[in-house]
Amino acid sequence: MTLDDSSAINPFVRNLKESLCYLKSVIISGLPGDVQLPPHLLGLLEELDTLPEKGVMRIEMLCDLAWELRRLDTQESIKLAQEALTLSEEIPFKPGIASSLLSLGFAQMRLGNYDDAKRHAEKSYRLYQNLNDASGSYKALNLLGTIHGQLGELSQALAKFLETQKLCESLNDNQGAAAALNNAALTHTYLGDFASALELYLQALGHYEILNFDEGVARTLANLGSAYYELNRYQEALDSFEQALKRQGEWRDQNVHAYILIGISQAQQRLKNLDEALTHAYESLDLCERLDNRVGMANALDALATIFAEQGKLDAAEEYFQKSLVIVQNLGDRLEEVKISLRLGELWHSSARPQKALELIEKALKTSKDIGSKAEVYKAHQLLSSLYEEQEDFSSALWHHKSYANLKDEVFNANSDLKLQSLRVTHQVEQTKRESEIFRLKNVALAEANEKLIALNESLHELNEQKSSLLKQLERQACEDGLTGLYNRRYFDTQMQNLYPKAQQKQKAFSMMICDIDNFKQVNDNFSHQMGDEVLKHVAELLRSNLRETDILARYGGEEFVLCMPSTSLAQAVNVCERLRECVEKYNWQSFNPKLKVTLSMGLASDLTVENHEKLLSLADIKLYESKRNGKNQLRF
Ligand code: GH3
Ligand code: MG
Ligand code: MG
Repeated sequence: MTLDDSSAINPFVRNLKESLCYLKSVIISGLPGDVQLPPHLLGLLEELDTLPEKGVMRIEMLCDLAWELRRLDTQESIKLAQEALTLSEEIPFKPGIASSLLSLGFAQMRLGNYDDAKRHAEKSYRLYQNLNDASGSYKALNLLGTIHGQLGELSQALAKFLETQKLCESLNDNQGAAAALNNAALTHTYLGDFASALELYLQALGHYEILNFDEGVARTLANLGSAYYELNRYQEALDSFEQALKRQGEWRDQNVHAYILIGISQAQQRLKNLDEALTHAYESLDLCERLDNRVGMANALDALATIFAEQGKLDAAEEYFQKSLVIVQNLGDRLEEVKISLRLGELWHSSARPQKALELIEKALKTSKDIGSKAEVYKAHQLLSSLYEEQEDFSSALWHHKSYANLKDEVFNANSDLKLQSLRVTHQVEQTKRESEIFRLKNVALAEANEKLIALNESLHELNEQKSSLLKQLERQACEDGLTGLYNRRYFDTQMQNLYPKAQQKQKAFSMMICDIDNFKQVNDNFSHQMGDEVLKHVAELLRSNLRETDILARYGGEEFVLCMPSTSLAQAVNVCERLRECVEKYNWQSFNPKLKVTLSMGLASDLTVENHEKLLSLADIKLYESKRNGKNQLRF
């Protein structure tokens, strides 16, 4: 990814990161909370003491604990991660090195040691990549993005978060993708590009909704509300905050709850529902006081003051602005201090206390120059110019007017730089979105095409099977007799066309027999046609079961069978035929019907000198005729 060098980001943006907006975001990202360790972590810490002083098991436990404790107890997290790192390097155990570096990086970032943090996170990322550990890689990338963000290197931060999002989407990790989108969106808000932030929050929301993850939904809806608010879309802001309130469900982070209440209050104030606005601001103030959440208190007081000013309750407004001011001063948030001062100054200006207004705004001007916040310098000059004008101090008025006019261009340019910057990142986001959509669509299309192909292959395979079994059946049918299962006449003749000339060539004995069931007409007539069929089948089976592999037996006509005996002399063939004839004669035909008798008449020829097998067959047929004439049930040759 090619994004601009962060040094190109102007000071206005650098200051933004110190603004309340940034602090608010930190709360919303779920940073500091209760320092009480949850019981499962305490249990794990105890278990750690029982483990041997070295070995992978201890390293893994140390790594898990260091990561879990990274926010709750940063110092302890560092201690554990360092032990894990030392032990892992001794072995060396790469997953342990990667994980401990990750926790160390995170802790260093928390302590503001950004260079160390970056170094550790980068090394961890490289290791995870070498280990092909996608979920580790994603954690390290996300951390790198966060570090860049804290350093004000917003383009780089954005690039890392977008990379993280891509990685997560390729892993189908909705939770990771949503977190990355949230981070990228926050980065957009630092850039002042709330429209892009809004879009990313909506995407993140989609991921969380798929997961049914209430905490994520609620946090994202709250962030979404803030983005709508910044875009002056107050009704949508209100809707988002109210939804966030409902979606907190089982999960309820009190700091986030307070943040949402303030969001509702500010949106209601803009929508002129001042009573509603007041109720929510008070509720938030109360909650923040109980939580000792100073940032939240300053926010709530500021919101209350703004509402009072709107209601014309100028004394109350003044009191609450003052209270808010004290808190942000104690927090050292100078940008917020200037912003509130300017609002209070305006209030004094409109309530005819120009002297107090002048003093406060002059001071705010100095501070905003110190911190380099041009937008506030510009606003202070503008206010001072009109204040001096009313005081009839025209030379001061003119001076401030000139400064304001000079700055106007600069602020305008700063804003357009910002716009350009955010345009570039918006483009990047669009591209990533398109890429991941294409990636998703490609996968869907591929999967569908693949399924179709598989189905097609299956049916093709089935068709082929059907085809080949059909072909086999056809082949069999083409050479087989349907009733007896013996070869048919056509097949027999084809075979003979090859075999007889070969036998002639090699001068190998070749015998051919033809037989005919005696008085078969009577079987049909005296018993039944079915009985005739049964007899045919049985005779066929008796003949077949008494033959050698090399003999070829076929049904030649109605009740006629032919037998070809290659490599068989006349004498041998006579034996075979006699055996067959006897076998049929002696078969227990009475089991079919007490009156049934079945015999065969046979004619045999064994001659290599005749022209072809048909001639040989007709010689055998002549012998068969002799058998019939001679009283049947006999062999003639
Ligand atoms: P011969 O001893 O002289 O051979 O007398 P035959 O009765 O066996 O001979 P003939 O040629 O007079 O009759 C043959 C009979 O065989 C006629 C025909 O109906 C019967 N037949 C032929 N094919 C089949 C068949 O597939 N099934 C049945 N049941 N009968 C068949
Ligand atoms: Mg016949
Ligand atoms: Mg017959």
